[in-house]
Amino acid sequence: MVGTSEIEPKSGSAGAAGFVVSRAGGMTGTPTSGDDVAGLAGSLTGTGWSEQAAMPNMISRLRRAILQSGLICLLTVSPGLAEEFVCFVYHRFGDDRYPSTNIAVDAFRGQLEYLRDEGFTVLTLGDALVRLDAGSLGGPTAVLTVDDGYDSFRTGALPLLQEFGMPATLFVNTNSIGRRGMLDWDDLTELLAQGMEIGNHTATHDYFLDLPPAGRSLTFGEDVAQAQGTLTERLGQAPKLFSFPFGEYDPDMRASVERLGFAAAVAQNSGVVSSHADRFALPRFPMGGPYATVDGFKRKARMLALPVVAREPESPVVAGDSAPWLTLRVVREGISLHRAQCFVAGASACSLQVEADADTATLRVHGHEPLQGRRTLYTVTAPSTSGPGWHWFSHVWVRPRTDYGATIRKLGK
Ligand SMILES: [Zn+2]
Repeated sequence: MVGTSEIEPKSGSAGAAGFVVSRAGGMTGTPTSGDDVAGLAGSLTGTGWSEQAAMPNMISRLRRAILQSGLICLLTVSPGLAEEFVCFVYHRFGDDRYPSTNIAVDAFRGQLEYLRDEGFTVLTLGDALVRLDAGSLGGPTAVLTVDDGYDSFRTGALPLLQEFGMPATLFVNTNSIGRRGMLDWDDLTELLAQGMEIGNHTATHDYFLDLPPAGRSLTFGEDVAQAQGTLTERLGQAPKLFSFPFGEYDPDMRASVERLGFAAAVAQNSGVVSSHADRFALPRFPMGGPYATVDGFKRKARMLALPVVAREPESPVVAGDSAPWLTLRVVREGISLHRAQCFVAGASACSLQVEADADTATLRVHGHEPLQGRRTLYTVTAPSTSGPGWHWFSHVWVRPRTDYGATIRKLGK
């Protein structure tokens, strides 16, 4: 179980309902399940949309302004208006040679049965975002995304999606299309005809953060544009959505994707997509390896978004192994923040400080141990005040390689 927690009055916060929650404990036993939190520590990795894109841009600027001003509670937020949907990411189906990125076909069937039986509407990511912007989701909604374009999608997932009448959004890296074990162009054309959505996952699927910062976003942008040109030519339509390889990005790469005209991008921080989510680093719950179960899926499908309206830092990239502080500004309404919990994947303990004001609260999180591995996820969960649901937010930290020479040689630059 999660260890001790203490709630203490915060000194020097006159007039504010400030308090500090400190946590010792770790990954297991939470009612919201830290299971997939641990999972992400491992190997896991447009046009015509301008009107819809305008609002997230405004929100993004507003977030920056709030962070830069350092002011508390400037924003009047109406969380009740925030519709949301849950998004999952899969890689392989029924291919147990690669257990960390695979889901058994029977488990996938069980997940689709759950969505059907519970009355979920399953949409492509593009359709779900249009409805989110229009405020017309109307009920529980799920999106199934599939990265990398493995052929096991066609053999393991497609028959079930056809049986249940559900779509999926696939993100493909163009240099791999048609290779052994991968979908080919005829497959992708047929999938489009069947109502599946195809998105851009770069040409090379490289670790772009391993490139030197100078020129990194240029190389990345060229790769994405090359993939976009190929996809547009071969499929007869330009993908509107993008998926960062390994879920890794920095602010310049994120800006490149926005500048190239995509409507949205997905990363691999877990969480629920709401109007508060970063439109160019949307969260997805992973469904691979030990986390690809029916029970785990049910918990995630019912998760609620923790409405984060600002965060500091915005970049996932960190140097060194010191566990950084993450600061979040969260809309308070309907959320029991004094019961909030933090989790740091791969670490045994973390601290969470909460300072509340009238409408929002500032949450500060940091791990107690040095970062391990390439990617580390911080997750904050808090129960709803009005029902059994839990709110969820996660932020991924990435520690790139710094021996740039090796990376440049590998990429042939
Ligand atoms: Zn990928």
